[in-house]
Amino acid sequence: STQRKIALVTGANKGIGRGVAEQLAALGMTVLLGARDARRGEEAAAEVRAAGGDAHALTLDVTDRATVEAAAQRVAERFGRLDVLVNNAGITGSGRVSPDQAHDQIPSSVEPDMVRAVFDTNVLGVIAVTNALLPLLRRSPAPRVVNVSSHAASLTLTSDPASPLAALIPSAAYSPSKSALNALTVQYANELRGDGVLVNAVAPGFVATDSNNHTGLLTVAEGAAVVVRLATLGPDGPTAGFFDAEGPVPW
Ligand code: NDP
Repeated sequence: STQRKIALVTGANKGIGRGVAEQLAALGMTVLLGARDARRGEEAAAEVRAAGGDAHALTLDVTDRATVEAAAQRVAERFGRLDVLVNNAGITGSGRVSPDQAHDQIPSSVEPDMVRAVFDTNVLGVIAVTNALLPLLRRSPAPRVVNVSSHAASLTLTSDPASPLAALIPSAAYSPSKSALNALTVQYANELRGDGVLVNAVAPGFVATDSNNHTGLLTVAEGAAVVVRLATLGPDGPTAGFFDAEGPVPW
């Protein structure tokens, strides 16, 4: 029905994105699960449907403009608008390792091509996807954009020697990519402030997923919950903010 809100989650075939898709579907939204692998996207969508949700797979590699444009075109044709965009797809750049093992991200020895690949997905991918979907978001009565960031994005925390964040292995790729994503979040929020589009960044916390070899301390459901909170903000909700489960996170 056209009453259902339409949500698109990138990187929704597994991990936090999949958890977000499940929870938005449980709230009654029609959820489009973006996945760069069509088969794994279909499998995830089928599982959300089996749980009673209205879910559809959408082939979408955030670094591949052709799939981004095709995905936006499909959403336009099938639904004519988009209410919620969750930019969740992201990579650490270091494969399936926990952050304390990401030695290949140490600034003095990092491979620039690796940094470029991380920024391609975590930053430029968000720009490509957001810009392709913005015309459809503008047709929503209450558009929401959530950028899935990280506490590692916080310059305040990572520059504080007393913060546990400062004790992580220095990262020239992942952490700066999420700082850039936070900066972009503010710029989009400012551009769209007059149009009712609320744009926020979220730190899900350290969640057990493939990205950290399941060493994370939170469940996917716990990490997804704070993303869902920002995806379902009411009309008086914040924009240009950075939040975790406890509230605002310092930039
Ligand atoms: P996972 O590795 O479990 O999932 C990442 C998802 O992103 C997968 O669906 C993956 O697809 C997808 N993806 C990666 N590259 C692309 C691409 N080019 N196009 C489309 N999809 C892509 O990681 P998490 O669930 O842990 O991470 C989700 C988000 O949360 C990321 O942005 C991450 O940085 C952030 N985050 C995670 C934390 C954690 O503790 N887990 C902490 C802080 C932030 P595929 O299966 O094909 O690889």
